[in-house]
Parts: sequence; structure tokens; C-alpha cells
Amino acid sequence: MSKSENQVLRRKAEALNKKLTSLYGRQEIESAEDPLDTLIETILSQNTTDKNSGRAFAALKKAYPTWDALLGEPADRVAAVIRSGGLAGIKAQRILDALSFIKVERGELDLEFLRAMRPPEAEAWLARMKGVGPKTRSIVLLFSLDMPAFPVDTHIHRVSKRLGLIGPRTTREQAQEELALLVPPREFFNFHINIIEHGRAVCRARNPMCAKCTISSMCDYYRSLRKAQS
Ligand code: SF4
Repeated sequence: MSKSENQVLRRKAEALNKKLTSLYGRQEIESAEDPLDTLIETILSQNTTDKNSGRAFAALKKAYPTWDALLGEPADRVAAVIRSGGLAGIKAQRILDALSFIKVERGELDLEFLRAMRPPEAEAWLARMKGVGPKTRSIVLLFSLDMPAFPVDTHIHRVSKRLGLIGPRTTREQAQEELALLVPPREFFNFHINIIEHGRAVCRARNPMCAKCTISSMCDYYRSLRKAQS
């Protein structure tokens, strides 16, 4: 992409961020969660709703009040506790693998030490854990460690493609890097949450409500739809 194309995209992202903020409000991280809690919550959130993963996380905390109590438990027992979150067997094993890795590497179940690292180092450390993908790592960095990262979930991937902020073939992993270049780091959290809000409320996967959408004037998908109809 040329420098001038990049500038155009940055201006568009800035305008979208402003508009979405006026629609859904300014999103701030109220209090940073413990990074290990965030890691486990994010593993539980894969391929399910916030409601189901929230229920699974609460059940896990109730059954195992400390992460040390969970370490070394049989995966099938853990899966039974988190069943409400879906894919329980896979998620139970991922959580147990992550805890074992942290214990072996650090001698204790705590990720606070990551705060002292530079963001790329913290990201690289998290990447050494089996089953901890780019989105999960970015969420831990952004939500708990106040580090610049732009997590891309299914809503952000879909909406930013339709808007034309990323290309039609851009993968989620590539989108994390590309979107992070379009807005300043202090806006990452706000933009991330508000795109998700818009994806849930208006720009749904099936039947996006383009006729009611207040950002349609900035949307490539809408523009091509209108062109095809005229
Ligand atoms: S105009 Fe349609 S496709 Fe574009 S952002 Fe709005 S709802 Fe999504």
C-alpha cells in the first residue's frame, strides 16, 4: 500500500472511530483485570457467547477458588465444570496446559511479571503457550497489561472488511497488525469495543441493516451494493 493510500485509510479510521464513539460512547478500561484471569476467560470465550463463557468462568472460579487448586486436575473433571461454555474438552485441556506451562516456567501461577516487559516480549512469551493464539494474546496485552495490541474477533474482522479498512482476503492475524496502524494506541480499546458493538447491533453477519446504518456513507460494502442496484 502506498503512503497516500495509507493516509486515506487512517483518516477514514479516525472518522469512523469518532462516529462510533458518538453512537456507542467512549469505552474505557475501568480496572485492569488480573492477566491470568483474562487469559483463562479468553480461552473460555472462544466460539461462544459472552454470557456462556461468563457462566463457565464463574463455575470454574467456584469449583477452584485458586488457580493452584485447578492445576493438575483431570481434564474431564474440568470439562464437566465449564460445560456451559461449549467445546469444554478442548478448552479444559488448553487451560490446564497453560497453567502447567506457567508453573514450570515461573514457579508460580502469576502473569504480573509481564508488565515489566516490552509489549513484543510479553507477546512472544505468551505465544510460547500451546493453544494461545494471536487474539487471546492481544486481549491479555490490551485488557490487562495496558499494552498496545488490537485484538480482532469475528465481528471486527467482518465489519472492518465491509467498511474497507482491511482487504477482502486479509486474515484475522493480518488484520490485528493492519488495524493497529490506523488508529493511535490510546484509541485501540475504544475502537475495538465500538466496532464489536456495531457488528452486534447493526452490521450483523447475516442481513446487515445497511438502510439504518449511520456509517453507511463510509462503507465500501454499502457503496458497491448501491452501485449494483443502480
Ligand atoms: S452500511 Fe451495512 S455493511 Fe456497511 S457498516 Fe453499515 S451495516 Fe455494515
